[in-house]
Amino acid sequence: MKLVSIVVPAFNEVGSLPHLYARLVALFERETAYRFELVFVDDGSHDGTLEALRELAARDARVQFLSLSRNFGHQAALSAGLDHATGDAIVFLDADLQHPPEVVSELLRRWESGDQVVNTVRADAPNLGFLKRATSAGFYRVINLLADIRVQPNGADFRLLDRRAADGLRSVQERARFIRGLVHWIGYRQSVVAYQPDARVAGATKYSTRKMLRLAFDGIFSFSRAPLHLATWMGLGASVAAVLYAIYALYLRLVLHTAIAGWTSLLLVVLLLGGVQLVTLGILGSYIARIYDEARQRPVYLVKETSPRSLPSEVQPGTAGSPLKPTA
Ligand code: UDP
Ligand code: MG
Repeated sequence: MKLVSIVVPAFNEVGSLPHLYARLVALFERETAYRFELVFVDDGSHDGTLEALRELAARDARVQFLSLSRNFGHQAALSAGLDHATGDAIVFLDADLQHPPEVVSELLRRWESGDQVVNTVRADAPNLGFLKRATSAGFYRVINLLADIRVQPNGADFRLLDRRAADGLRSVQERARFIRGLVHWIGYRQSVVAYQPDARVAGATKYSTRKMLRLAFDGIFSFSRAPLHLATWMGLGASVAAVLYAIYALYLRLVLHTAIAGWTSLLLVVLLLGGVQLVTLGILGSYIARIYDEARQRPVYLVKETSPRSLPSEVQPGTAGSPLKPTA
């Protein structure tokens, strides 16, 4: 029987876990053609999530967990789950039940028909705030304009990866993780399933505006070099404008025997060029910061505790989660 791993990142989700577990068990009971393992990743929670996971794992042999040494973020938690899942297929699913477990059946059907990556896309979500919808739409427009890959608008980190695609994704060594983009980058046979997201079952969103912005910039800077070329284009534009303006000034001087008034135009040019230079410096800085992050080679996450029995024996608490090397 094929083994399916369900990877669930959880950051302060103690309120959601019982609901999630019940819905997943119902799924397991319907899908009798598969064996399931449930890999929870506690992403540095401080609300009793870890205690709840310990209890679940003690009760149900299908449940495994790993607990990260602090909050490393959603994308790092997904990577940790991916590194520790042993299934023939791996499903990423949020803990808050916004990704209905029932849709997993559809993902499994697609997998059986030969798709190696089954992505999902949110059908219109009336329970999603206007601001979230507007910023999300703007983000996908920008990234698809600039990036070398196509990122599915309204895509979610709710997908199935077969073993080969999962290993492909694990071989990507980048620290800056924008999994939605990386999944497109790895290729393989992919398809998309639409789903109707539910409201969060308990608690509030764990994605602060800061985390969301960081994710957005990770996406753009990891998949696009276009901002780096901005300086070239703006420099060219400024040069052309300068030549035209010089011709105009000469024309005034030589033909009309007048001169352009000085102060205002001078100040405008100084401010404009100063602004352009600072912006391009900032863009360079963003890329350099990312080079710095990659060069330090810090692990994407650290594990402080794993469930007692079920995880592969070579995985020890405290091991660095370097995505390529199997943790040793
Ligand atoms: N999450 C996490 N670490 C974080 C933030 C979020 O593991 O730093 C988890 C969270 O517990 C949930 C999933 O990632 O299972 C998606 O987060 P959330 O539902 O808060 O985001 P939203 O759906 O509001 O975008
Ligand atoms: Mg959510």
